[in-house]
Amino acid sequence: MLIASIAIYYFSANFRRNDFYNLLRSRAVSVAKLVLDSYEYNANLILRSGTGYPAKLPDEKFIILNYHNDTLFTSDRYWELKEMDAIVGQVKSNKEVFGKQDEYEVLGTSHTTGAYPFVVIGAAIDKDGLLHLKKLRIILVAVCLISLISFFIAGWFYSGRALKPISDVVKKVEEISITSLNLRVPEGNGVDEIGRLARTFNRMLERMETSFAMQKNFIANASHELRTPLTSINGQLEVLMMKDRSTDEYKSALGSVLEDIKSLIDLSNRLLLIARTSAEGPANYSNKIRIDEILWQTREEMKRFHASYHINISLDNSLTDSEQMIVAGDEHLLKTAVTNIIENACKYSHDHTVDIKFRRADKWVEMVFDDRGIGISEEDIKKIFEPFYRGTNAISIPGIGIGLSLVNQIVKNHNGTINISSKVGKGTRITLLIPAIT
Ligand code: ADP
Repeated sequence: MLIASIAIYYFSANFRRNDFYNLLRSRAVSVAKLVLDSYEYNANLILRSGTGYPAKLPDEKFIILNYHNDTLFTSDRYWELKEMDAIVGQVKSNKEVFGKQDEYEVLGTSHTTGAYPFVVIGAAIDKDGLLHLKKLRIILVAVCLISLISFFIAGWFYSGRALKPISDVVKKVEEISITSLNLRVPEGNGVDEIGRLARTFNRMLERMETSFAMQKNFIANASHELRTPLTSINGQLEVLMMKDRSTDEYKSALGSVLEDIKSLIDLSNRLLLIARTSAEGPANYSNKIRIDEILWQTREEMKRFHASYHINISLDNSLTDSEQMIVAGDEHLLKTAVTNIIENACKYSHDHTVDIKFRRADKWVEMVFDDRGIGISEEDIKKIFEPFYRGTNAISIPGIGIGLSLVNQIVKNHNGTINISSKVGKGTRITLLIPAIT
């Protein structure tokens, strides 16, 4: 606004000056003609009467000289023109002179009548022009001030409105704590940047809420699973100590207590493993592991404890070199994963049989575990990797529901993938893909 106002004022002032000099020039030339064509007395009369064209200018004064510097005419003998010699000199060397002396605009120009050149000097006050300029100055200053005040008020108002959604989000975020993760920040129109930011924030809160809920569940389930064998041990020992028992009774009770202790140890081992693998996340393992060896070893170990289990391993014909079966990983973790899958396949099928196919698929080592067991419903498959989740098919079969979540975590840590497809009553297929080294 300020720059525009200055430009407007500057061009208007220029325009006024040029315009006035044009008028003054025309007027000076017409006065020169009048004077040089008539007697001085007549000329003064005519001048005073204001006739002629262009019309009389405010406070106009004229001096006419010949080129010998003799003053031929002066409209006001009391007028003291400053620097007259310099003006006359310049006009004689063919230059027009413009300038300001006090409030007078002064113009010096040459005029030729017959064959004789004359110097004509005119001066007048541009009362109207200066008045207009003054009014323009006042208007521009007023407009600038009013605009400044309105911009300030509008800026204050609109920036407050524009930033309100952000301050709303900030206020809401400050209210959110671990115990109030269900709160959400206002999404506004949900379209602009703030809306998108709020939506992203809400999605993050959703994820946090879910993982907090999962953690709470995990702790509740873990304590429950730990308490069950402990309560059973406690009960058995209390009953045992009520009276004296025979050696056989002691032996059988202690055997049962031992079973409970073993399952407690197994559970705490698994819980520790889940905690460790989740904390580690996907890792860069440096150990080279031959997956086929893991499978063979697992098979031997499992057959020692479960003679009824049938574990059939077949290698794909494409596997010609043992190097093709090497992955980078943690031997203990990989063995745990494979053991859990094989154990489930045998546990959840009447023939206790699992067929394992082992092959190389592009950059992956692929293991497919097939059983002809009870199968898993689609609903259960969606939740099967959640810790302590047990399928509806598993109610009468012992287990605690952390095997597959452990497998899933181990596979993730090895940057691999796990896929489950199943048909209830027909069987289950679990496919593991682990990136190969070569
Ligand atoms: P658990 O076997 O101790 O219950 P898991 O985490 O190993 O726990 O398995 C979770 C659930 O997945 C099981 O309760 C069962 O419902 C289902 N499941 C896993 N593997 C199989 C399988 N091969 N056949 C049928 N159901 C299975």
